[in-house]
Amino acid sequence: MRVLLVEDDALLGSGIRDALEQARYAVEWVRDGALALEALRCANIDLVVLDLGLPKLDGMEVLRRARELGAAVPILVLSARDTTLHRIGGLDAGADDYMAKPFDVDELLARLRALERRARGATVNLIRYGAIELDTSALAVTFNGQVVELQRREFMVLRKLLENIGSVMSRQQLVDNIYGWDSDLESNALDVHIHNLRRKLYPELIRTVRGVGYVIDPLPVAARQDA
Ligand code: CA
Repeated sequence: MRVLLVEDDALLGSGIRDALEQARYAVEWVRDGALALEALRCANIDLVVLDLGLPKLDGMEVLRRARELGAAVPILVLSARDTTLHRIGGLDAGADDYMAKPFDVDELLARLRALERRARGATVNLIRYGAIELDTSALAVTFNGQVVELQRREFMVLRKLLENIGSVMSRQQLVDNIYGWDSDLESNALDVHIHNLRRKLYPELIRTVRGVGYVIDPLPVAARQDA
């Protein structure tokens, strides 16, 4: 899950970024409206947290233009503009949710989980695949009912693959999903995560598609009935 965080306040922005990273999101943080729009045009983004009072381009304008461009990504507005009229204006301009500052970070994370659920048509924070359960709220994975200890990025890779069963995820898509734009990346880091997931769960779980990427195949019908 890759979140675009649009916040010009340095202290607040770094606090939200840290909380999102702890909740196992990959975070792209930009500090003005023009960069936000640019990111929405060019990058793979799964969720947006958008401040409104921004340099260069106001957040309301970012919202309107993003929707005009056809960006369907869930957007949560996080703003100090907290009158009813402001909230109505934001929601009608295309925001999926609207939170007033000051805010509680746990509530922000819960609202983001709700937006994710809606985006993938789910009703609970649980992804099931055979004997594997991944809880996006508790950030926990179990296999046959036993807790599997995963590193932060192993969790993120597994989640991306489980959210896209049957679709081959390219190496770039997976890397985008777990690392920020400017982070240094060892070229074999992704392979190490895949190796560890196969070892901690089971080897056939993730199939390598040579020259492309990785996929978790749909379960056979019999296995699905057991699940
Ligand atoms: Ca601001």
